[in-house]
Amino acid sequence: MKIITTIKEMQQEVRQLKVQQLSIGYVPTMGYLHEGHSALIDEARRHNDKVIISIFVNPLQFGPNEDFDAYPRDIERDERIAKEHGVDFIFYPSVDEMYPHELSVSLSVKDRTDVLCGKSRPGHFDGVVTVLTKLFHIIQPDRAYFGLKDAQQVAVVDGLISDYHFPLELIPVPTVREEDGLAKSSRNVRLSSSEREEAPQIYQTLLHGQELIRAGERNTFQLEERLKEKLANSISGTIDYLEILTYPGLRKPDQIEGKIMIAVAVYYHKVRLIDNLIIDVPRK
Ligand code: AMP
Repeated sequence: MKIITTIKEMQQEVRQLKVQQLSIGYVPTMGYLHEGHSALIDEARRHNDKVIISIFVNPLQFGPNEDFDAYPRDIERDERIAKEHGVDFIFYPSVDEMYPHELSVSLSVKDRTDVLCGKSRPGHFDGVVTVLTKLFHIIQPDRAYFGLKDAQQVAVVDGLISDYHFPLELIPVPTVREEDGLAKSSRNVRLSSSEREEAPQIYQTLLHGQELIRAGERNTFQLEERLKEKLANSISGTIDYLEILTYPGLRKPDQIEGKIMIAVAVYYHKVRLIDNLIIDVPRK
């Protein structure tokens, strides 16, 4: 496994892989790897000749009051995990390497950002598509792997790839959870012990929503209100949003039917957690 810190060197390696006609599976990450990341890496390993991951905490996708500086980092641990899972290259550039000067062309996401994290984190998805455009051009993957834990990101990146004809396939990977149901996240280490204890209630609320839908609930507003009440009563954190939307369109449905997503975000003292459940509801 090679660790590469410059764009030039990464491009040289990619060129050699292309000459040999080897397929490239790519997993973009912000590091502090956990089993969610390794599920993406394993999937990439199964279907490609070479696997490249990037580790880059992208300042552009953090708001001024967000946790860019406090975001957990541990490159040595990440190297070990990546190696164990058969990664061929880690692309690990500095902020200066990726953004040596202010960009002269900006990308801005127009659709599906007026809801969920797009609404709570203005500019976040602009930062995501900007860095991914650079990374896709540098790494030129055949397939790129993204976790459904960030389902809105999957929908937005799908739009980027199809609108701008990136010659790659987006592969969504299901959310990996702790034994108690909490979605794995690099940010979980920033929960206090009491917050960590109650945080599985987030997933329990999503499952409860799924049960109510299975029992026949079809009213979007009523279900949102019931779930918000249940969650608010079972955690000390503050609900940022709990919304039911169509997936991947991210529109508010009049009736709960077809492919829908229950999505939630909760603020704790030092961290904001997100989770979701995508459910196929048979049309009546
Ligand atoms: P991050 O390092 O948080 O930017 O995540 C990098 C990639 O890993 C993104 O595509 C995430 O959606 C994905 N990911 C993060 N957590 C999980 C998880 N618990 N299960 C599956 N994928 C995940």
